[in-house]
Amino acid sequence: MKTDQSITDKMNHFEKLCREQGVPLTVQRRVVLETLAGRLDHPTADQIFDDVTHHLPDLSRTTVYRVLETLVQMGVIHKAQHLGSVARYDPNTERHHHLTCISCHKVVDLEDQVLNQIKVPKASSKEFEITDYSVHFKGYCSDCSSKKKNSKTGQK
Ligand SMILES: [Zn+2]
Ligand SMILES: [Zn+2]
Repeated sequence: MKTDQSITDKMNHFEKLCREQGVPLTVQRRVVLETLAGRLDHPTADQIFDDVTHHLPDLSRTTVYRVLETLVQMGVIHKAQHLGSVARYDPNTERHHHLTCISCHKVVDLEDQVLNQIKVPKASSKEFEITDYSVHFKGYCSDCSSKKKNSKTGQK
């Protein structure tokens, strides 16, 4: 679970990065990061925008998009983009993996020590320098799989 402490740590880290990189710590940046850090569901930019406008009603959608890009470039957050899906934002920048529901498109974190130790293939290093990886599993989340079962047996 996301604790208040982990959000505080994230914000402290961000403040430090801003100082180091000479990036102004604006209210917009702070609120967008705080909003994302409090969520575990890998929200899209639009979902973050909906949340952020509760705190800053005057903020435009374009600004939220721009702030998110800045945060990605600074390395404070990751963009979790999977083929054919809308970009989702991830406050967790440590190596971890994802479970994606192919029905409701929910994205859930998966921590797994074995997956963290996959040997990066050497052969491809000439054409492509691999710097990181994450494993992405697809399937049905518990909500969707119970819905599927119910509809199969005809019990709704
Ligand atoms: Zn689902
Ligand atoms: Zn994640």
